[in-house]
Amino acid sequence: MKITRVETFAVPPRWLFCRIETDDGLVGWGEPVVEGRAETVRTAVRELADQFLVGADPSRIEDLWQVMTKGSFYRGGPVLSSAVAGIDQALWDIAGKALGAPVHRLLGGPVRERARAYCWVGGDEPAAVRDQVAAQVEAGFTAVKMNASGRMSRLPTVSELNEVAARAEAAREALGPERDFAIDFHGRFSTAGAVRAVGVLEPYAPMFVEEPVLPEYTHLLGQVTDSTALPVATGERLFSRTDVLPALRAGIAVLQPDLSHAGGISECRRIASLAETFDVAVAPHCPLGPLALAASLQLAFCTPNFLIQEQSIGIHYNKGAELLDYVADRSVFRFDDGHMLRPTGPGLGVEIDEQAVRDADGTTESWHNPLWRYGDGAFAEW
Ligand SMILES: [Mg+2]
Repeated sequence: MKITRVETFAVPPRWLFCRIETDDGLVGWGEPVVEGRAETVRTAVRELADQFLVGADPSRIEDLWQVMTKGSFYRGGPVLSSAVAGIDQALWDIAGKALGAPVHRLLGGPVRERARAYCWVGGDEPAAVRDQVAAQVEAGFTAVKMNASGRMSRLPTVSELNEVAARAEAAREALGPERDFAIDFHGRFSTAGAVRAVGVLEPYAPMFVEEPVLPEYTHLLGQVTDSTALPVATGERLFSRTDVLPALRAGIAVLQPDLSHAGGISECRRIASLAETFDVAVAPHCPLGPLALAASLQLAFCTPNFLIQEQSIGIHYNKGAELLDYVADRSVFRFDDGHMLRPTGPGLGVEIDEQAVRDADGTTESWHNPLWRYGDGAFAEW
């Protein structure tokens, strides 16, 4: 079997899909994207396809991963690692389809029958947080995630800290003691600010506190983990085993690799095993589309230290299209009691509506995150 064609499709709301075709007529799909840099990753996928993929045996997933990741001297970072990630997903999809088995069966078989998932809640005011959390409880979710704050001062004011606490209090009130919320700092806090904010959250017992410091301050992350009994999570902006190692050493409790950023199923499988040696659970980051979610679920079902899965259905970023719009059989992503069921179809287990993807290609306006500034005009982290 040989790879004959590699195509990419930029589709709303902000996703990039990769389609790999073989001379046997098998087709594999993946999702290589960096949010806001879809066209940059698209170029990287085209370069990798021209250099390494067309004419190659798609079943040599590990060898192709090695040469795509290391064979051009420069390596790593979000763009290249995401390009490799989506290609890797498509190669696993082909491997599963060739063998008639879901990917998690090729990786050792299922270790669970359903995977807990959480959804996002927006809302800036505590009353809005309470209403949105209550709606998700009503929809059957057992866990939600929300941002801790909007823009944060370098050193948080009393008012900002009170707002962080008020949102958490509202979420806990709506959830009761049986359900969970996670709270995402989004790298908006300085290390000193994060330590103070984590402190005010302790009475509300969030499941974990996410990305309290930016990835470039991972060498300071231990100050946060040492300051609190709350579980600390990070990982969506780390792209390899090497990248996650300092965070694991800093004492995090939850690692959040992104299957579309951190080298795909191949590397995230290894990252999960590395995390296991630190007694750290994995909760894959996934505010993306159906292929990223399908790849995440394949990992969830064969990973003993899996904790919970992020998913983007109804997320505030999904403007112009929803995750299920490109899926032929939507029942693959059905929820039961806040959990997603084990996919049984071959490969990634999701059948893509190819015509919907081809029709949507190029219709997306480029998505960019907001650019925030402080009152004095200086740049502020979003
Ligand atoms: Mg996050």
